[in-house]
Amino acid sequence: MNKKIEYAKFMKDWETESFFKNLAIRHEQTKANTKKWFTANKDKFISAYHVYESDKLDECNKTFQKYNLELHLFDSKKCGVCQAGLKYINYGNKGFWGCPNYKKPPTNEHTSFSPDRGANIREWIGEIKPRINTHWVTMIRNSMGVGNAVQPKTLLQCLLNEGLEDLKLKYFPTANPTAKAIETYSKVKKNTSKEEKEIERILDLFFNKVIPQQGIKYKMKGEKEKYCFVDMVASTAYNVNIIEIKTNAGHIKEDQLNLYTDLTKNILLSHNDNRQVTSNFIVYDGDNTSRSGVKYCLFDEIMQCNTVTDIQKNFNINSNNF
Ligand SMILES: [Zn+2]
Repeated sequence: MNKKIEYAKFMKDWETESFFKNLAIRHEQTKANTKKWFTANKDKFISAYHVYESDKLDECNKTFQKYNLELHLFDSKKCGVCQAGLKYINYGNKGFWGCPNYKKPPTNEHTSFSPDRGANIREWIGEIKPRINTHWVTMIRNSMGVGNAVQPKTLLQCLLNEGLEDLKLKYFPTANPTAKAIETYSKVKKNTSKEEKEIERILDLFFNKVIPQQGIKYKMKGEKEKYCFVDMVASTAYNVNIIEIKTNAGHIKEDQLNLYTDLTKNILLSHNDNRQVTSNFIVYDGDNTSRSGVKYCLFDEIMQCNTVTDIQKNFNINSNNF
């Protein structure tokens, strides 16, 4: 980690509670403000929606015309620059259609086609679709010069309430609905899974202290104060284990654990606490064969441990301390 930690503190229960409460309140305020803004600017916003859609359709149309023109040249075997008839040139084991005037100016601009170009273009023409960005609502909002105070997700809901379509789904029926794709408020305290409760129950039998969703308040030099939440912290007189619980190994984000480890080390250090810090992922749908790159503990292996020493050993072996 290159950035310098100015301070880090474990959050008390009441701090965590109030953090999530404030977050929920702010979220509700933003939603309310967004709805208000939408009501006041409804016509402008809806017309920006139609402009966005028609721009995308225009783009399609241009692509279609470009391909159509090229296809016409291919089918009639004519040069698009000088209109001369193209000649088939044998070249190696694969020939091409070329213009006999290719040496005349504008050189390098005369038409040439590989023999399968026509079939390719026909295929591409069939696949032309408007390129709707996943964040199309945000783009429309930005095109109106409105900032982050107006929230895309609520705006989308407002549009749908007006009977307008989700543009992504309109043109890509199998895509993720936009509302799902732009989900940003996962910051609300997450529900504890069955497996997390089970891990907590087991670790609690062996470790001195097990804290689920431990909040850390911290500040990096030159940045604002931030908060993060570790899935679990399990500690003894000698060890502090930072634990992130994942459904499968694919969900692992190394950086996340690096940050938590650095912050925890910093906290311990500021209390002259010399306990060893390990950081671990516990993956519950995993097996040994999928273990590559980042190390992680297996849920099943942890569940089979009978002593704190066994669990600590597993944590130490699979720790990601760098
Ligand atoms: Zn030509």
